[in-house]
Amino acid sequence: MLIDSSTLWFFGTNTYVVADGPGAAAVVVDAPPDPSGVASLLARHDLTPIAVLVTHGHIDHAGGVDGIAGPTVTAYLHPDDVDMARHPGAQLEALLGGQAFEIGDAVVRSQFSDLAAGDRLSLAGVEFDVLFTPGHTRGHCCFSVPAEGVLFSGDQLFQGSIGRTDLPGGSYATLMDSMAREIMPLDPGTRVLPGHGPATTLAAERRHNPFLQELL
Ligand SMILES: [Zn+2]
Ligand SMILES: [Zn+2]
Repeated sequence: MLIDSSTLWFFGTNTYVVADGPGAAAVVVDAPPDPSGVASLLARHDLTPIAVLVTHGHIDHAGGVDGIAGPTVTAYLHPDDVDMARHPGAQLEALLGGQAFEIGDAVVRSQFSDLAAGDRLSLAGVEFDVLFTPGHTRGHCCFSVPAEGVLFSGDQLFQGSIGRTDLPGGSYATLMDSMAREIMPLDPGTRVLPGHGPATTLAAERRHNPFLQELL
């Protein structure tokens, strides 16, 4: 399986492409609002996108969906985050400490297909399990590829840290509950590919991530 990534936009969001190999159909995981950045990542391996899996509705993960999705490309997002994806003004104000931020609506054209807990999606020859992990946002999901031992963790789990829970819809208790229910039971050898920062493994996070210690 081919997995590659680029770090895009001014929040340094990791976007990933997943495919059987070069020249094939591909799944894009998270779409920062930098369509040409995503397009050049796809072009690097001559990939044709057929789906966008969006971990959550924050603009740095969902704001580029309109640039990729279309008649032949389906975008998937949990329904609890669709409103947030379409109207990013409030989340940006919260991020910038209450400072008003002029921005148009994001993701105006695309229709989202609903993600639900426990779904298994077969896309571009790859099977993705949908792990419903609210806490960073109300509708946050992680995507695991059990056959490859890979987890796309979005803003749920980072190397040495976890996602913010002080933004609208966030809850520390809910995030930790999601961690205990959906993430901790995964094989410790699982490769964790997060929405920000470097890749890690679940084993390394179990040893070093201060937020996971209370769950061991
Ligand atoms: Zn986020
Ligand atoms: Zn993010």
